[in-house]
Amino acid sequence: MAKRLIVVGAGVTGLMTAKFLVDRGFSDILVIDRKYPGSGGSFRCATGVRASFTSREHIKVMLRAIDLWPKLSKELGIKYSRDGYLWLLSRDRDVEFFREAVKFQNSLGVPTRLVTPEEVRELAPTINASSVVAAVYDPIAGKASCFDSVTNTLTHLLARGVEVKWGVEARKIAREGRGFVVETNIGSLRADSVLVAAGDGSRRLLETLGVDLPIRSLPKHALVTEAFRPVFKPLIIDWATSSYIVQLFNGNFYIGADIPEVYDTVAKVKLEFLRKAARVWTSYFPWLREVYVLRYWTGYYDMTPDHHPVIGPVEGLEGVYVAAGFSGHGFMMAPAVGEALASYILGERPLVPEFERLSPGRFARGELIKEIAVFG
Ligand SMILES: Cc1cc2nc3c(=O)[nH]c(=O)nc-3n(C[C@H](O)[C@H](O)[C@H](O)COP(=O)(O)OP(=O)(O)OC[C@H]3O[C@@H](n4cnc5c(N)ncnc54)[C@H](O)[C@@H]3O)c2cc1C
Repeated sequence: MAKRLIVVGAGVTGLMTAKFLVDRGFSDILVIDRKYPGSGGSFRCATGVRASFTSREHIKVMLRAIDLWPKLSKELGIKYSRDGYLWLLSRDRDVEFFREAVKFQNSLGVPTRLVTPEEVRELAPTINASSVVAAVYDPIAGKASCFDSVTNTLTHLLARGVEVKWGVEARKIAREGRGFVVETNIGSLRADSVLVAAGDGSRRLLETLGVDLPIRSLPKHALVTEAFRPVFKPLIIDWATSSYIVQLFNGNFYIGADIPEVYDTVAKVKLEFLRKAARVWTSYFPWLREVYVLRYWTGYYDMTPDHHPVIGPVEGLEGVYVAAGFSGHGFMMAPAVGEALASYILGERPLVPEFERLSPGRFARGELIKEIAVFG
C-alpha cells in the first residue's frame, strides 16, 4: 500500500515536519532513517538558537522559529531557554562590521546591541575579558535540548499513528505512475510524495532522481566536559577564532572550534581540535584547565554555496520536497522549517515569505543569498 508521504531522515527537520502535518490532520506518513532518530546532526549539535544573522532570509525564518520554540517547549516538554548569545570581538575591524550588522538586525526586529567589556564580565561571570574590545549581545537567542526535540517529537508522532522505521536506508527514489518508489535495504516503499530531509545524505539521494543540489559535507568537531553548577548563561562565541562555548541544561560545557577541514571527506577526531578548543577557552576561563573532557565527537555541516538551506518543492518534480543544506543552522530553524514544509505539502504558501527565496531552483537561477555570521 502506498503511503501518502515518506519522509527520508528522522532528524529534527523530518520529525518536526511530520509533527506539523499530523497536527493539521494529514495522516499516513512513514518516516525512515538509515540509522536511528537524531543520529545525524541533530544529536551532535550545540543546541544554539538565534536570529542574529546577516541576511534577511535567515533573520525572518529565525524570528518565526523563535516564536515557535516556547510553544513547542510547552507542548512537547522540550527544555528551551532564552539565555542569549554573546559574540566576543577582539579586533577593531570586527567591531565595525558588527556595528553595521546590529543596525541591520535591529531594523528587522532583532534587539542585538554592542556591549562593553564591563558588560561582558556581568553577562559571563569569571571571564577574563582582557582581549575583548567589544561584544554583541543577542538577548532573544538561546538554546533548546536537542535530545528532547528529537525524542519528544518522536513520541508525539508515534502516539498519533505516524510510522517510524529505523535501520532503513533509502538508496534510490524514482517516479512510478503518479507517485514515487523509494528503494531501500528492506525493499521498495511507495508513496504519493517524498520529503528528503536526510542531512548530509540528501545530495546523493536526490541525484538518483536527477536533481543535483550543490550541498557538500564539511567535517565538524565538538566536545563536552563534566557538569558544573550554572556559571554563565549565554552561548559565547569568539569571533576571531570561530569557536564557541555553551553550558548545557545539565551543566556540561559544550565547546566547538573551527579547524581546517576538507569538504566531502570522512570526519575523524583530531588532536588539533582539542588543542585549539583548550587554548581559546582556557584563556577566557582559566578555571577550565581543571575540567575534564568527557566526550569528543565529529559531525558534518551540510553546506551550500550561500550558507542558506534548500527548502521546498523541487521544481519540475511534483511531489518531491527537500529540506537540507542547513550549513550549521538546521536545529534552530527546525520548527519554522517544519511549519513551512507542512504548508508546501498541503498545497499552501509558507507563512514566512522569505522561505520562497530558499527554493532548490535558486542555484540554477543564480539567485544566491549572502550570510556572513557562520562560525564553528
Ligand atoms: C558540531 C555541530 C554543532 C552544531 N550546532 C548547531 C547549533 O548550535 N544550532 C543549530 O541550529 N544547528 C547546529 N548544527 C547543525 C544541526 O545539527 C543540523 O543542521 C540539524 O541537525 C539538521 O537536522 P536534519 O534533521 O536536517 O538532519 P540530520 O539531523 O542530519 O538528520 C538526517 C537524518 O537522515 C538520515 N539519513 C541520511 N541519509 C539517509 C538515507 N539515504 N536513508 C535514510 N536515512 C538517511 C540520517 O541517518 C539522519 O538521522 C550543528 C552541527 C554540528 C555537526
